[in-house]
This record gives sequence, structure tokens and C-alpha cells, in this order.
Amino acid sequence: MTEATKKLQYTLIIMKPDALVKSLTGNILARFLEARLRIIGAKVVKVSRELVELHYAHLIDEPFFDDLYEYFSGKTYGPDYERVLVFVYEGEDAISKVRRIAGATNPLEADPISIRGAYGRINKKGVMENVIHCSDSEESAKKEICLWVDPDEIIKEIYPTKKVIKNNYEVIEWA
Ligand code: UDP
Ligand code: MG
Repeated sequence: MTEATKKLQYTLIIMKPDALVKSLTGNILARFLEARLRIIGAKVVKVSRELVELHYAHLIDEPFFDDLYEYFSGKTYGPDYERVLVFVYEGEDAISKVRRIAGATNPLEADPISIRGAYGRINKKGVMENVIHCSDSEESAKKEICLWVDPDEIIKEIYPTKKVIKNNYEVIEWA
């Protein structure tokens, strides 16, 4: 792809609880430096059942959904690990660059030098503990960023917003 056809994209990266258990946060950030992207938002989140159901809506009817919830919420590892780190990145072709560095969904099939190939595993319940989430298309990036991050938690207005009054205060929400 030439410089002229490269597209500025946004993508959501989540370091899942196993990334925290394995002390991989710095390592993963360093891996994404290679892609020359920019962080425009970052926070730590305790993940509710409702958030997992919205984020993984495409998997809600799978027999492994409850086990996926246990993993993604961090309950598998105990209260100290019931959290994830959430990042919004921007850059040219950010989505495919991040997916390449992340590796395939199944850690046993992922390129061994990708993040998931190097650090992922399949747990006793059959869940793919693959260390990170990253958006797979512009459509899912928009859905996921709007789900996880409020407009005032990122440094740019990347999607349309609206002003609403809540408890007599004006707040900005995604439109
Ligand atoms: N997952 C799993 N078993 C499956 C499919 C998915 O454990 O057969 C888990 C895995 O942690 C994966 C997540 O559910 O990362 C979301 O699945 P998706 O198909 O969206 O893969 P991803 O976009 O994360 O590569
Ligand atoms: Mg996915």
C-alpha cells in the first residue's frame, strides 16, 4: 500500500487479566511501539457481566460464554486481577497492524512471535486465554470504543458526539 492510500484508523486494545497476571503490560506496550501508532486514551476497568455481554455479543450463545466471562472478568485469577487495561490507538492502518502483532485468536495456532503465540494458552475449561483483545474492523472498533470509552476520556473527538443534561450538568456522550 502506498503512503497515499494508507488510512487513519482507530482501534481498541484491551490487556486481558492474564496479561496482568503474567506481568506483560510493559512488554505488550513495547510490542505496539513497533507499529508507530499513538495512544489517544488509556484506563483501567473492572469488567461487569453486562459489559462482557455487550463486548462479546457475537459469542453470547456459545456454550463457552460463561467460562469466557470468568476469564475476561478476571474471576479465574481472584480479586486482585479483576481488571483490564484499555487503550485507544490511532494511526495509519492501525487495525491490521495491531491484529498482526497480536496474532491469531487461538494461541496454539498463532505465530509464535506474535503476542498471543508467545504468551497465550488454552485453559482447563477450553477458553483461549490470549492476553489481548484488539478490534477486527473499523465497524467493530467504533462499536467497541464507544462501549468502553467516553468521549472525554480520549484526547480527540474521533466520532460524532452530543451534549445531554444529566443531574443538571451538561455531559458529552457519543451520538
Ligand atoms: N474464544 C474462545 N474460544 C473460541 C472462540 C473465542 O475462548 O472458540 C475467546 C478468545 O479469548 C477470543 C474471544 O473469545 O479472543 C473473542 O473471540 P473472537 O472470535 O472475537 O476472537 P478475537 O477477535 O479475540 O481474535
Ligand atoms: Mg473479535
